[in-house]
Amino acid sequence: MAIATNLGFPRIGGRRELKWLLEKYWKGTIGADDLLTGAHKIRETNWKSQAEAGIDQLPVGDFSLYDHVLDWALRVGAVPAAYQTPQLVSELDRYFAMARGTQKGADLPALEMTKWFNTNYHYIVPEWSADQAFELNADAFLAEITAAQTVSKEVRPVVLGPVSLLLLGKLKGSSASPLVLLDKLLPVYQQLLAKLNEAGVKWVQWDEPILALDLDGDVQAALKHSLESLSQSRGSVKLVLTSYFESLRENLPLAFSLLVDAVHLDLVYGPEQLPAALRHIRPEQFLSLGLVDGRNVWKTDLAKALELAETAAAAIGKDRLLIAGSCSLLHSPVDLAHEAELDSEVKSWLAFARQKLDEIVILTRAINEGQASVARQLHENAAAMEARRTSRRTHDPLVRDRQKAISPESLRRQADYAARKTQQQERLNLPLLPTTTIGSFPQTSEVRQARAAYRKGDLAADEYQKFLQTETQKCIARQESLGIDVLVHGEFERNDMVEYFGEQLEGFVVSKNGWVQSYGSRCVKPPIIFGDVHRPRAMTVEMTRYAQSLTSRPVKGMLTGPVTILFWSFIRDDQPRRDTCQQIALAIRDEAADLEAAGISVIQIDEPALREGLPLRKADQASYLQWAVEAFRLASSGVANQTQIHTHMCYCEFNEILPSIAALDADVISIETSRSKMELLDGFGSFQYPNEIGPGVYDIHSPRVPATSEMVGLLKKAVDVIPAQRLWVNPDCGLKTRGWVEVEAALQSMVEAAREVRSLL
Ligand code: GLN
Ligand code: ZN
Repeated sequence: MAIATNLGFPRIGGRRELKWLLEKYWKGTIGADDLLTGAHKIRETNWKSQAEAGIDQLPVGDFSLYDHVLDWALRVGAVPAAYQTPQLVSELDRYFAMARGTQKGADLPALEMTKWFNTNYHYIVPEWSADQAFELNADAFLAEITAAQTVSKEVRPVVLGPVSLLLLGKLKGSSASPLVLLDKLLPVYQQLLAKLNEAGVKWVQWDEPILALDLDGDVQAALKHSLESLSQSRGSVKLVLTSYFESLRENLPLAFSLLVDAVHLDLVYGPEQLPAALRHIRPEQFLSLGLVDGRNVWKTDLAKALELAETAAAAIGKDRLLIAGSCSLLHSPVDLAHEAELDSEVKSWLAFARQKLDEIVILTRAINEGQASVARQLHENAAAMEARRTSRRTHDPLVRDRQKAISPESLRRQADYAARKTQQQERLNLPLLPTTTIGSFPQTSEVRQARAAYRKGDLAADEYQKFLQTETQKCIARQESLGIDVLVHGEFERNDMVEYFGEQLEGFVVSKNGWVQSYGSRCVKPPIIFGDVHRPRAMTVEMTRYAQSLTSRPVKGMLTGPVTILFWSFIRDDQPRRDTCQQIALAIRDEAADLEAAGISVIQIDEPALREGLPLRKADQASYLQWAVEAFRLASSGVANQTQIHTHMCYCEFNEILPSIAALDADVISIETSRSKMELLDGFGSFQYPNEIGPGVYDIHSPRVPATSEMVGLLKKAVDVIPAQRLWVNPDCGLKTRGWVEVEAALQSMVEAAREVRSLL
């Protein structure tokens, strides 16, 4: 019989219970016991709903109070020296100090955080030291397993494998690979497996997600070695080797050659790998079929999924199949049942985590008992698929015709940068080292309350408009008195830079409760792109025009770029991303044209997600970068030479994509650099980045107000790398999370710093 399995369930709870618990605990309004009891309740609810849905093997250990990579670093006893201080009284204090820093007792920064593969989830980067010692610290994990065993007769612990764990971390003070620590780490995993065996565990989910990446020979050898060394200690425990988000490609033969009892395939993002897997699977191995998309919101096309499953069953027999989601459901919103107000047509095409469990179970039953046993479910699914395929809302002929008519000229500004620069300078008449900000100003509790009241219907539309205008007016006045050169309206009307546009564009819906964990207690609610995108009416013109009417200085029109809107949304899966991105780009292009027609002379199109859209495999990166750059150019090239186009990117590994950043051909780019002490700018310097740059001169992530001299120092460094004629002065990013007091002080120092450095030139 095929087995219904699941790689992991969302931890945040259907109503973001984990977020509220954590925030209360951090504030001190609840104690550790309440936090742990609350967390256990979420776990239990998750287990019960999975067991009720019919999942045969319950995943355990997929839950985390903050992040599972941090959990594993601690389970193998890797606490960096600084966090071993007795000033951190409890284990929980230590855990959160590593996760988010602390100033209580000990003064410690958080460990670094970075993106989990190509998702929007962020994990804590473990820090290894050259003399790292490891020690098994898994009592809580084992207790969780015992607790889960009361809910389901079979539980499947989720273990982050040693090779991925090491490679996801950083070896401090050494350029060697963290794999030098592997032999010291393996005994801990041996002990763990022995304990799991004692606990009566039959299957363990052995996550080695690095299998989705390009691997060199050392990593391949490490995987082989790790599994060989573990084969003795695990008794009768079976391992299912899991990786996700990509096809295994050339790592596929390696995966099946390892000493594992099953290999999981992400057949949503790599359906083409099934035939190769069926050739390479060894006679004693099982195959785990990831058929349900764990990181998007669409109903699975069950007929298509069944075709794959039946091919596998015909080749190796259904007794060797595990049916699963493509990856952990961590990346899906929790439950569609909480969406009472969602557009009912679109809703009928969706499945959130809870619904995905049902799909896994239906597929398993169809394989085990025949399709007739789930005829009604398959029929309903087929009807939903057909409705989606043929809906006028997914296929808008006008949008498609416009896409077909995109000409090469529409991807180019009329003149090159040098000519544009002259014309823009005539119009804008800016000083050397012009000052500006990235867009948002503090979203105070008044701003958030007014928005909430307006949404609830407690504040009338015209009252809300008046409120926003007053905020904008104050914001413009403050920027003028600070002496900033290029102003912004402040983005008070926006809850989120993507959702704001998603709410106004056709082809998007916005959910009420479709939250997904981004990191720790931070959740995001990506809008859902279900159909062809177009712009029914101008989105930002009224507010920008109003702001411009208040001042003689230029006010930037603020737009979010097509690539960022794409990647920070749930993306439709029925056409290439490139096509969806192009549709968004056309909408943004129209908006830019309308802003220009309204007299706006500077337009910023933010693209902080450009780098994060980069595919995991090198072989796929060039084509992505090409369509992403083209989408930005399509969005930004419809304006006249005199209109200055800005873009903005937050901190990222800029260097590897510098040619693409240059190819955007934005007149000005602002980037986050201050935390790297301007070092990030060196790459732009040696690349001879051709257009203007505003390297951030102060970190907006902390309330700290840097001294003028500090910013002068950074600007002097910048002038050494980039000619002053092409330098701007701005903070690292938007200011919406800060308070006005520190913002005004910091911007005053920033303007002073610019003046001081100007006088030296
Ligand atoms: N314009 C946005 C802001 O200032 C940019 C935010 C971002 O880069 N993530 O908030
Ligand atoms: Zn930013």
